[in-house]
Amino acid sequence: PISIYWVRRDFRLTDNAALTAAIRRGSVLPVFICDPQVESLGAAPKFRLDLALAAFEDRLGAMGSKLVMRRGKALDVLQDLARESGATAVYWNRLYDPSSVARDTDIKASLKADGLEVESFTGALMFEPWTVKTKTDGPYRVYTPFWKAVREVGVPAPLKAPDQIPAPETWPHGEARENWKLSAEMRRGADVVRQYVRVGEPAAQARLAEFCEDLIAAYKAKRDYLDAEVTSELSDALSLGEISPAQCWHAGRRRMQEGAAGAEHFLKEVVWREFAWHLMWHYPEIETKNWRPEWDGFSWIDDEDHPHFLRWCQGRTGQPLVDAAMRELYVTGKMHNRARMITASYLTKHLGIHWRLGMRWFEDCLVDWDPASNAMGWQWVAGSGPDAAPYFRIYNPQTQSDKFDPEARYLTRWLPDEMSCASESAIQFFDAIPVSWGLKLTDKSVEPLVDLAEGRARALAAYETFKTQ
Ligand code: FAD
Repeated sequence: PISIYWVRRDFRLTDNAALTAAIRRGSVLPVFICDPQVESLGAAPKFRLDLALAAFEDRLGAMGSKLVMRRGKALDVLQDLARESGATAVYWNRLYDPSSVARDTDIKASLKADGLEVESFTGALMFEPWTVKTKTDGPYRVYTPFWKAVREVGVPAPLKAPDQIPAPETWPHGEARENWKLSAEMRRGADVVRQYVRVGEPAAQARLAEFCEDLIAAYKAKRDYLDAEVTSELSDALSLGEISPAQCWHAGRRRMQEGAAGAEHFLKEVVWREFAWHLMWHYPEIETKNWRPEWDGFSWIDDEDHPHFLRWCQGRTGQPLVDAAMRELYVTGKMHNRARMITASYLTKHLGIHWRLGMRWFEDCLVDWDPASNAMGWQWVAGSGPDAAPYFRIYNPQTQSDKFDPEARYLTRWLPDEMSCASESAIQFFDAIPVSWGLKLTDKSVEPLVDLAEGRARALAAYETFKTQ
């Protein structure tokens, strides 16, 4: 019998439960569907998806299989393919964001009504959100107890990659990925960002091995340093499923058992990702609404045309660390974790701009965009989220810079030094930005939008007024 394996964000052969089950059953018809959900992705996530698709197409091709690509509503495409190929089952690995859950629930019911066997599997997470429960049978809202609850739960060993993927006798027609133009919205930026991303399953596995071997021991001590490059850099591969969290977990645990100092800390970070998805599953509105409703009355500026917001996006706030980080984001499609916290704090506190606007800008620029981690990260920094930092914890970019970039290596990498010694990365920013921004490398640094002490005082005053309302 033929099974359709519906590929979504699981571009890997190893530890792939849906693919493994389909192979066990007989011939496999892997399909990727460019549906409205894919079309609605931000520019950088869509571009990164395009790269992942191309790599996975090659990987399946090398196994004598294929990735059939079709555009349309997912249910229509799956029904057409089942009819055309005679497939009698449809398998996929689960996703947990609200729109995927709604779509997949409908599709499962409709395909079952058509008489097909339909099954979904665990793969994007280690701990299904509905299985981790507090003593009172509810979801977790705070990270540390969540970590304590899951750390002793066994994570099944990753499944092996298949030796072969049995192909159907004939292949239904597919569309050319190039015609979908998934990278089109990146415009000039695509060539620049491409130089910074590692794409595909073998690259992710090699990076995990390299990280565990060479970097993990220094991870805990150095991960906050902006230029240290000791983190795994696996977030985009995890977001696209080029590697599974279970593979990261087992590799990290092995190093922990061998006594590597930073290994447990790495496991904790991988579990932050699980926690974010736990929150999103139980509170799907975390992306759109203040998690703490009392924050609805806070006086954020909620105007995406506000000149201060534009200057923040362009890396022209006049605060060197904020500007360096925003440029790192634009050029590499990623940003250091601490820099994400500092830029988010600066936007929501010093500038008083709504976290949702910042979250959406990240959603458009991040190749590792992950709706759950992004929403949790923004609400955490803004103070409106679960387990959030208190609002009055306002990062001072200057102090953070002195502490986590003491030799100013990060700053000099991203900010042109009045033309005299602009680094390669700084120049790339000007290659990548839209012409409509009207910025040139020769532009002198800008006056700070706000004085740091004044911005902090204003934020605290706004908070006091809000609290006493
Ligand atoms: P490592 O330090 O090597 O960590 C290993 C893995 O653990 C990461 O790849 C990631 O999957 C996970 N992880 C680490 N830190 C966190 C965290 N704080 N929250 C959730 N998971 C974490 N991460 C994303 O993957 N996508 C996003 O869209 C995203 N947006 C963020 C927005 C804000 C405002 C903040 C503060 C954080 C955001 N993060 C996001 C989390 C974090 O910044 C990145 O996961 C991390 O910088 C990726 O680098 P790395 O792969 O080298 O991580």
